[in-house]
Amino acid sequence: MNLVFATNNAHKLEEVRKILPSTFHILSLSELGCTDEIDETGTTLEANSLIKAQYVWDWLATRPSSCSIDGVFADDTGLEIDALNGAPGVYTARWAGDAHNAAANRQKALRELQGISNRSARFRTVVTLLRSGKNEQVEGIVCGSIATEEHGEGGFGYDSLFIPEGYDATFAELPANVKNTISHRARAMEKLKQLLG
Ligand code: IMP
Repeated sequence: MNLVFATNNAHKLEEVRKILPSTFHILSLSELGCTDEIDETGTTLEANSLIKAQYVWDWLATRPSSCSIDGVFADDTGLEIDALNGAPGVYTARWAGDAHNAAANRQKALRELQGISNRSARFRTVVTLLRSGKNEQVEGIVCGSIATEEHGEGGFGYDSLFIPEGYDATFAELPANVKNTISHRARAMEKLKQLLG
């Protein structure tokens, strides 16, 4: 089955290719020649996930394709921190500014939580799957907490700060195969597989 993953994030692409079985052929935007920046103008993860998938769906419709595409999906992810009333949520990527600077975002998380003992948080991802005549959404959640300093070299984004429930290490310290079994993305991909039968 040929599916387009509507992302320019190489880390997300790598994870999804590892999570899904090889019967799913995941095409990236760069492989299709789509280099456009997609404006995430929504105010919810659901809206932004749909915006990304719809943009690529419409983009594909204007181009002849060398292979048949069975669907397009996109993932929009938010970090929801309880002590900050669910922030940064939909603004997770640009929390520290429009530059989408991951290191600055992590520093902001540490600053915002300085002196706060309740560090519980969750990653929530909303995946939109578009197929002809169908528009479906699933979500994946992993609960955990925000560390008091960065730990680990693996992963991306906020991984060096996020300790998943039941573990004593951040996503950046855990082996990729562990993150890819328990993460928000892994859980959403499990539901995506069910939609695709
Ligand atoms: P978006 O879904 O691409 O808009 O990403 C939102 C923000 O969450 C970005 O800052 C990403 O780096 C971050 N992010 C998304 N997925 C993960 C993850 O699995 N681990 C850590 N950070 C993530």
